[in-house]
Amino acid sequence: MPFQAQPLISLCTIALTLGAQYASAVVIPRGITTDPVAFAATNFDFVIVGGGTAGLTVAARLAEESYKVGVIEAGQYRPNDPLIDVPKNFGSTLGNANYDWIYATTPQVNANNRTIIHNRGKVLGGSSAINFEIFNRPAAAEYNAWSALNLGLGGWAWDGLIGFLKKSETFTAPLVEDLFPDISPFKRRQEEVTDEMASIPTSFLDFADSALNLTALDVSSLLDAAGVAETIGATSNATTRRSLVEKRDTPVHGSSGPVKASYNTWYSDITSPFIHTVMNMGIPLNSDPDNGNNIGIYNSQRSVDPSTQTRSYAAPAYYAPSASKANLIVLTGAQATKIVLSSNKDNQGRYTATGVSYSYGGTIYTAKASKEIVLSGGVFNTPQLLELSGIGNPDIVSSFGIQSLIDLPGVGENLQDHPMSPCSFVIKPGHHTWDELRNNATFAAQAGSQYATTKTGILTSTISTLTFTPLQSFLSSSKIISILTSLTSELINNSSKFSLLQWAQYVIQMGWIYNTNVPQVEFVFIPGFQPTGNVAAPSPNTTYAVISPVLQHPFSRGTVHITSADPLVKAAVNPNYLASVFDRTVLVEAIKYIRTLASTAPFSDLVQTFNDPPASVNTDDGFADYMRKALQSLKHPVGTAVIAPRILGGVVDANLLVYGTKNLRVADASTFPMQISAHAQTTTYAIGEKAANIIKNVW
Ligand SMILES: Cc1cc2nc3c(=O)[nH]c(=O)nc-3n(C[C@H](O)[C@H](O)[C@H](O)COP(=O)(O)OP(=O)(O)OC[C@H]3O[C@@H](n4cnc5c(N)ncnc54)[C@H](O)[C@@H]3O)c2cc1C
Repeated sequence: MPFQAQPLISLCTIALTLGAQYASAVVIPRGITTDPVAFAATNFDFVIVGGGTAGLTVAARLAEESYKVGVIEAGQYRPNDPLIDVPKNFGSTLGNANYDWIYATTPQVNANNRTIIHNRGKVLGGSSAINFEIFNRPAAAEYNAWSALNLGLGGWAWDGLIGFLKKSETFTAPLVEDLFPDISPFKRRQEEVTDEMASIPTSFLDFADSALNLTALDVSSLLDAAGVAETIGATSNATTRRSLVEKRDTPVHGSSGPVKASYNTWYSDITSPFIHTVMNMGIPLNSDPDNGNNIGIYNSQRSVDPSTQTRSYAAPAYYAPSASKANLIVLTGAQATKIVLSSNKDNQGRYTATGVSYSYGGTIYTAKASKEIVLSGGVFNTPQLLELSGIGNPDIVSSFGIQSLIDLPGVGENLQDHPMSPCSFVIKPGHHTWDELRNNATFAAQAGSQYATTKTGILTSTISTLTFTPLQSFLSSSKIISILTSLTSELINNSSKFSLLQWAQYVIQMGWIYNTNVPQVEFVFIPGFQPTGNVAAPSPNTTYAVISPVLQHPFSRGTVHITSADPLVKAAVNPNYLASVFDRTVLVEAIKYIRTLASTAPFSDLVQTFNDPPASVNTDDGFADYMRKALQSLKHPVGTAVIAPRILGGVVDANLLVYGTKNLRVADASTFPMQISAHAQTTTYAIGEKAANIIKNVW
């Protein structure tokens, strides 16, 4: 399981201490109800399924008007819970059914047939309550591609989304020293990139052209959206160099949004040597990564309220300030089981969603909505609920005895994630990492009381050192060309299996391999132990660093589909990890690059041993074995109810309306048209903000 909190006695002690301190302060606001009968008897304007990251955003914004808004949430409200709130406790709720749905994938053939755990928040606030608090943004070209896939409709480009990103956040500007400890922002290394680029294999573009020519999409406009010129070979060395260090200065942050973001104030002493090493290897320091240019190594913001040093997530950010409003009612502990659709279609052939059935204590109730229903159950539960309601691929739906109402084969398809195979290193004694909390009981106790009394110290810290790179930063031209050649053959050989959506996405992704402003790999730096391929638990009194290579734009596509008509049976999640040769090759190369990084000064001076994979692994085959053994998810699955034209396989239109319905929308991470090179929460909040805006404009 990735990025676990250390299994520390000290954390339990802290939890208990803080729990006792908070216990008397817990007041359940009037907006929370556990009365399923009264909820079903209420005439809501809007019912929202899922009180998670996007769901609470939509609910709170709609409740700003006089609408009556009901939210159905399967989990409980857990305000002032130290396992959620204390920043360094990230990971401690994973696998705990009080917080987590605890999904597991189907056996993954390219990961030694292992099932891979997928955590999803089952608590008010959803996954924003259990995530790792990284609060960052993708490259502008990635949202621009979302827009291109939607023919420019709906405002899904960077320019259309930036306002919603800003609206959701309160940004605390960093001090110079916050940009990174001990690193001047002016010490950027402007490494020359001299790679000659090949043009995109024309055979692939010819195939894509003929696949897409029934749609309004064409290859040139998709490549434009990908941020690459049609003649890729024209990307001169000078342009490439400039793009790697270019920084825009547009003000892009919000100052009064609900989610409070801030920078770490505690850093491990192994962080600076790591940063210097990455820079020594030619990757630039990015002091302004949130402006649409996210290339380089940077200190990420976190969703931590700097005034309280507690996690800032959807429940305290969006729900709590609205909790006293009489027009916002949240039913917790209830699981939605079906969307109720009208028995007749309107004159445009659309169903009207009239209510949501839900299970509470084993009994089924139905809530009514006179205006709209919004699905915000997340990337696994939203497609499940659509299929349970007869919306999806008719073959799948009817095979479980469910009446097929809307033929929408894109439901549950297009699953894209961020797979990774973390690598760990034993660090020489004398350094300070999160391991100290496990190795030194006195230190842990002091850290606990420091946090409780002053809200400072190691327990305020989170993962924040992130590096986003194009392939050109760590692979030779000849290697990239060989990757492109095998990718092209793979795509052409499998062309008959692809949906139109995949074709369009692959044109864009192919373009991104050439666009040095769009990262292909993220390297996450963690100052402390994490389980890896061969090492499940830390050794006593040992200090670790973990560097995790994460694919940003895999070519593999997965699925989420029901396996039963019983809504309480989880859907089958099959991400199809590493199915594409591109994914396997790039991840192996990224693991090898980490070995080079750890062998480069000054970080190499700290490394005692290559822990996992061990030094004995030093061939391509050995690294590939390790990749399969260590494969995990960074927990960013997206795209299973995708915003795209229906002809391409879209599930919702550019206004988030489910095709074939008049008033059923989806707002959550399942709508991402394509994966992005950022952790998913800022974008998911922005989708929630945008959904509320769309809905307010309709009603
Ligand atoms: C362990 C982990 C670590 C992560 N780390 C980061 C990170 O550091 N930074 C980052 O940006 N992103 C991170 N992410 C991803 C990010 O948190 C999610 O992508 C995002 O929060 C998803 O938001 P959502 O609105 O789509 O779904 P969620 O926030 O998961 O909300 C869905 C809600 O719907 C409820 N629900 C589902 N089905 C039903 C039903 N049938 N009836 C009633 N209620 C239902 C759920 O209980 C949940 O509350 C992480 C995710 C996880 C799981």
